[in-house]
Amino acid sequence: MATPVKTMKAIRWYPPSFDIRVEDIPVPQIQDGDDAIVKVTVRSDLHVYRGHAGVEKIHTSGHEFIGEVVELGSNYGVHSQGRPELYATLKVGDKVVSPFTVNCGECNVCRLGYTCRCPFGALFGSPALEGGQAQYVRIPKAGGTLFNLSDSKSWSSALSDEAKTKALAGIADSSLLMLADILPTGVFAALQAMNHPKILPALSGRPWPASFFPGDASVTMLPEDRVLTFAIIGLGPVGLCACVSLLDMLSAQPLPFQIVAIDPVESRREKALAVYSKIDEAGKGSGKFVAESIDNAKKTVQDWTGGVGCTAVLEIVGNPSAISLAYDLVRPFGAIISVGVHGEPQMPFTGRQLYNKNVSFDFGRCPARAMFPMAFDLLVKRQDVFGGVGGPDCLVDQIVGPNEAPEIYAALTNRR
Ligand SMILES: [Zn+2]
Repeated sequence: MATPVKTMKAIRWYPPSFDIRVEDIPVPQIQDGDDAIVKVTVRSDLHVYRGHAGVEKIHTSGHEFIGEVVELGSNYGVHSQGRPELYATLKVGDKVVSPFTVNCGECNVCRLGYTCRCPFGALFGSPALEGGQAQYVRIPKAGGTLFNLSDSKSWSSALSDEAKTKALAGIADSSLLMLADILPTGVFAALQAMNHPKILPALSGRPWPASFFPGDASVTMLPEDRVLTFAIIGLGPVGLCACVSLLDMLSAQPLPFQIVAIDPVESRREKALAVYSKIDEAGKGSGKFVAESIDNAKKTVQDWTGGVGCTAVLEIVGNPSAISLAYDLVRPFGAIISVGVHGEPQMPFTGRQLYNKNVSFDFGRCPARAMFPMAFDLLVKRQDVFGGVGGPDCLVDQIVGPNEAPEIYAALTNRR
């Protein structure tokens, strides 16, 4: 079935930055047997609007969207064998959410779970691939990329199929949209920090390198050596998701912890505290959480750790001042987890500085498809913070129609 209309409204991005226009353009067509055409029902975006990424080509923006399948390429159907399940099961009419990058699901990179770096991949809403701020969007490799929200058995997670189906019936689309990017990316930041080998001594109670091996450790650690100290830099939507995810992971283990969430904008700090206050006691675990300005956060980390520094720092912004702050805050043998998109050509420190702190870095884009099951389960568990719209403690501020886009983008940039 082809799409019934030939042209559509799309929100087009014009270089170099700060120029967003609503235009009529042709509806996308199937170009390859693996393609699907999706009618977009919910979307959001901001990333490249400011021109951070050096983008010069006019394109439709939008890397987060939910929609309905309206057309499938020739490779879909029961004849599909030995390929990702959706090639056999996806149907016209199914409701889908797309991770913000395409991935094939069939190559070595995808099989290992590093789905954001699939060699067949592309970022929606970039010069390489038209985005979802349009009435329709073409999904290359859709059988490897999409999640079918109409069929919760098509992916597995810690929740049962029955629990997933029940949860899906009660979650708003504005909340499900977080599964495209911001929530998987927040979970990705927290997961990398909590699973970093350099926090194993605190988690295991055995000093490095005995933390890696069974048998006796020759040095005894004190209880205060096991207190986990984290900083999260940047309290936009991804930063808030990282806070909620890190709290969820920390509340599941018995150790004391302390988190300082950092942003120079007061309203963002207030939102972070409002979100935290919504989480129940079990979700807060045996730790403390503060939201502070940059200078106050430096002092707090100094006080909390006796000048040693943070076990790990989650850097969500991606500019030189944020990554410099991460370096200043992290302890020797600490880890900096950076999911911010970096636009500057140089890192703001020398190799000698890194040597002097034995710093570990994990950089890069979230493999959103691989992270989806964990993100979905957290979305279900924490509907108290992810479910609302428009309140001081809500991640979704407002829902608008496409013709309002240029005005809304300008307002967001001015942080109104
Ligand atoms: Zn692949």
